[in-house]
Formats: sequence, C-alpha cells, structure tokens
Amino acid sequence: MASREFALIDTYFKGKGHQRKDVVLGIGDDCALLAVSDSTLLAVTTDTLVAGVHFPLDTPARAVGHKAVAVNLSDLAAMGAEAAWVSLALTLPDADDAWLAEFASAVVEVCDYYGVTLVGGDTTRGPLSVTITAQGKIPAGKQLTRSGAKPGDWLYVTGTLGDAALGLALVQGREQASSDHHEFLVGRLNYPTPRLLAGQALRGVASSAIDISDGLASDLGHILSASHCGANLFLDKLPLSQALLGTMALESAWQLALGGGDDYELLFTVPEAQKGALDTALAHCGVKHSCVGQLRGGEGISYLNHGQTVELDVRGYEHCWS
Ligand code: ADP
Ligand code: MG
Repeated sequence: MASREFALIDTYFKGKGHQRKDVVLGIGDDCALLAVSDSTLLAVTTDTLVAGVHFPLDTPARAVGHKAVAVNLSDLAAMGAEAAWVSLALTLPDADDAWLAEFASAVVEVCDYYGVTLVGGDTTRGPLSVTITAQGKIPAGKQLTRSGAKPGDWLYVTGTLGDAALGLALVQGREQASSDHHEFLVGRLNYPTPRLLAGQALRGVASSAIDISDGLASDLGHILSASHCGANLFLDKLPLSQALLGTMALESAWQLALGGGDDYELLFTVPEAQKGALDTALAHCGVKHSCVGQLRGGEGISYLNHGQTVELDVRGYEHCWS
C-alpha cells in the first residue's frame, strides 16, 4: 500500500469514534486483535484483489482464487494466529461458469489445505474484485506484532525474496526466463504460500513480525517505525532463488528482493537469546529461514554488502498493471 493511503487511513479512520475495551490491537498491524474471552484473541484481516490492479486481467481464475485466500492467511500468519474462518465478497462482471468453477475450486482447495472453513460472503455485479476476510485464533498474550523489536535483535525472513516480482515482469513481457525458471517464478506470483505454521512456531520466540506484501524495504519500514528502531540489512545474506539469480544480474535481483511485492514471506526479529530456539522451532515446520540483518538504534535502513556500506535507492512497489 502506498504511503498516501496510510496517511488517508490515519486522517479519516484510525482511532475515530467509540473505542471498545476488548480491542487489543486496532488499525495499524497485519490483523486486528479482539479479546473474545480471557484466554483467546480473535485475529481479523481483510484484503481485496482488484482485477487489473492487484493481478493482470489475464490471470487464471485458479490463481485469483488461491491468491485471494492466501494473502489473507498470510496476514494471520504474521500475527502467529491459527487460521479458522474466511468469508468471500465477490464482485463479478458476469456469471461465467467455467471461470467460477476454476476460481471456486481453488478457494476450496486452499481452505481445505489450511483447515479453514468458508462461512459467508457477498456476491455482486461489477468490475472483477475479490475481498476476503480471514479470522483466526491466538492464545492471549502470544500474539506477534510489528512493535516488539529492540536494537540488537536479529532480522530474519522465510523462503526466498523477489521471485513474485520477477514473475510479474515475466507475465507482462518485461523480462524473459528459461521455461523452468518461468514456471517457478510465475507460480510464486500466482500461488503464494502463507507461512501459517512458521508464524505459530514463532510465538514466544520472535519479538516482532510482519508479512512481506509490498517488498522487504517497505515492510521492514513498518516494523522499524512501530518499534522505534533502525536496521542494518545484509545484502549478501538476502535469500535469492536459483531462478531469480539465473535470470538477472545481482544488483537487479537485490532491487526485486527489496522493492518488489507479493512475496508473502514472513519478516521477523529474534533476540540474541532466542536464536537457538528459533532454529528448533522452524526446523519442525520445514520452512527455510535466513538472517538478513540486525536492528540498531536510530531510524531507517542501512544497506551493507559483506560489511561495506552500499548506497541503494530501493524503488518501491506500485500496484499498477494498466
Ligand atoms: P496489510 O498489507 O498487512 O494487509 P494494509 O497495508 O492493507 O495491511 O493496511 C494497514 C492497516 O490499515 C491495517 O491494520 C488495516 O486493517 C488498516 N486499514 C486499511 N484500510 C482501512 C480502512 N479503510 N479503514 C480502516 N482500517 C483500514
Ligand atoms: Mg500484512
């Protein structure tokens, strides 16, 4: 989301009106957290995918269905939540049965895979747009937020970065890759993997977390401003796939890893004393993780390559396919 949209939310919506005492966390994190009992928090998030803005118009229906659910489950993962329920608000230009069959089977498949139930929604006519609201549960006090990081904490990411941004460049014809790499990279764009098990494993281990939807630099910026810290980011430690490195020069790959969107990997911080616990926790869920930096006092991100400072102008991610 662009900074002007964050300003809009702050101006018109954040903290306005009656504030209930059971809202543990309102606007400003990956999910809202609501105290539904003494022992359980309900995590709630909503994300919309608009055709031609958040996905190219010729995206397969199966990919639209998968991605709409997966990006919402990714926000639950970022809080350490167990995913439970989704609702689906669907705006369609016309009722195309073939499209709907593909779309619906992908929604059902991803819900089944993560043990989530579709419990409601809304169906309207208009330009294609898919809104999912996802809800999950967290034991009270075990939530991960953007605001708990401290100077000295280590910075980690799951998976690899930049693949989806290159996948988008491929489907738009701005880049070319070998057919193996093409399939992998476009798959990373269209079928993101929400890191739900990793998120839950990070409870009590990570000091802060966010999911990477708008690029590492932008989403790290949210942790830094919520936690009042700065960060040193180690470019030589960025996890880059063989497909990304096999298709572009290293500096371009860094740009996509830092500024590209749609990774849906987790970015989190871990205090020095929890580093061993982290390796154990994530080994159990089979998710690769990489240490890509360390928090410090001050503000902003400093980029280092093998210990040397690098001046880098990270180009942010724009949702624009028109
Ligand atoms: P994410 O990328 O994790 O989905 P966003 O960047 O979309 O988060 O949103 C940032 C925060 O602003 C979230 O807490 C979200 O719930 C909130 N938000 C976004 N749009 C609105 C709105 N129109 N009214 C109230 N809150 C909003
Ligand atoms: Mg998020």
